[in-house]
Amino acid sequence: MRKLRLANLPTKIERMVRWSAEKGVNIYIKRDDQTGSEWNGNKIRKLEFAIYEARDQGCDLLITCGGIQSNHCRATVAAATRLGMKAAVLLRIEEEPPLEGNYFLDRLMGADVRFCTRPEYGNNRTEIMEEMAQNYRKEGYKPYIIPEGASYDVGALGYYHCMKEIVGQEKEMGITFDTIVVATGSGGTHTGLTLANMLLGYGKRVVGMAVCDDNAYFKNVAMQMTPGALNYLVEHGEIGREQAEEFAAKVSPSDFEYIDGYVGVGYAKSRPEELEHIKRIAALEGIVFDPVYTGKATYGLDCELRKGGAFEESNNILFIHTGGIFGLFPVSRSFRLE
Ligand SMILES: *Cc1c(COP(=O)(O)O)cnc(C)c1O
Repeated sequence: MRKLRLANLPTKIERMVRWSAEKGVNIYIKRDDQTGSEWNGNKIRKLEFAIYEARDQGCDLLITCGGIQSNHCRATVAAATRLGMKAAVLLRIEEEPPLEGNYFLDRLMGADVRFCTRPEYGNNRTEIMEEMAQNYRKEGYKPYIIPEGASYDVGALGYYHCMKEIVGQEKEMGITFDTIVVATGSGGTHTGLTLANMLLGYGKRVVGMAVCDDNAYFKNVAMQMTPGALNYLVEHGEIGREQAEEFAAKVSPSDFEYIDGYVGVGYAKSRPEELEHIKRIAALEGIVFDPVYTGKATYGLDCELRKGGAFEESNNILFIHTGGIFGLFPVSRSFRLE
């Protein structure tokens, strides 16, 4: 397979005993927060494919981008450094950032860091990364640019394979998960899972809990990523050319399911009820969610289960814990535990 082997795979699946009892439904958790230490979380599954491609093209420097506390940037820096490559990250900031959490680790592992403002990031991040690449080329490097969150056709393969891993584990465990739930931020994780679910006929419900943007936005992201991902799957010998063409002709935005309503006050901004939920599950189960992604997604899951909402038909729910623990420390004081 055209991928590196960096992550600790397969990741464990555990039952949330007390949370399940409370909600009267089986809630399981897939520990993708344990894919590694420095590169813990979901991004490393995508990076295994992205960095394979970078090295295949003879590249020796990775450039990527994200928010100041980006888990994706930190995982990219860790993987690049581990492999003896150079890493450069473009980080979106509001003001001079304190040296904490993921950003601290980026710096600790020796990444080149460039900052930009929110508007620059929103409108020009691709151009800025291109300009960075040009400068590195002058220094003799061969750079490879990984888009935000590694959410592009290559990266999506990481979660296509994760879905296969889940189905293999179901057989071993003698369980069938009817519903898979995951936090959605840049879309690649959910897109990969959904493509495997459809192409391989697993028949599950795969729900992305939006932690920014909305349903319409993510449906568009998924549709944009699909043709390229299908191409890669054909090249990797996963599916036939004919199957890919048939699928491409019939896939539609309605095949990708997202739940809005739990973005709260905005990306990477927390509400007291979200922090209270993180604290409650941490004390109940000894499992720690992050404030930006998994905390919001599981707060949404908890609310929907409480009101008999979107998951009323579900019996066995698998939540994929996509990591993010380093992002918790910079907000520790907001929990008011003293
Ligand atoms: C990036 C990230 C996600 C979202 O994954 P996408 O593929 O960007 O949608 C979820 N959880 C954590 C902890 C992340 O870092």
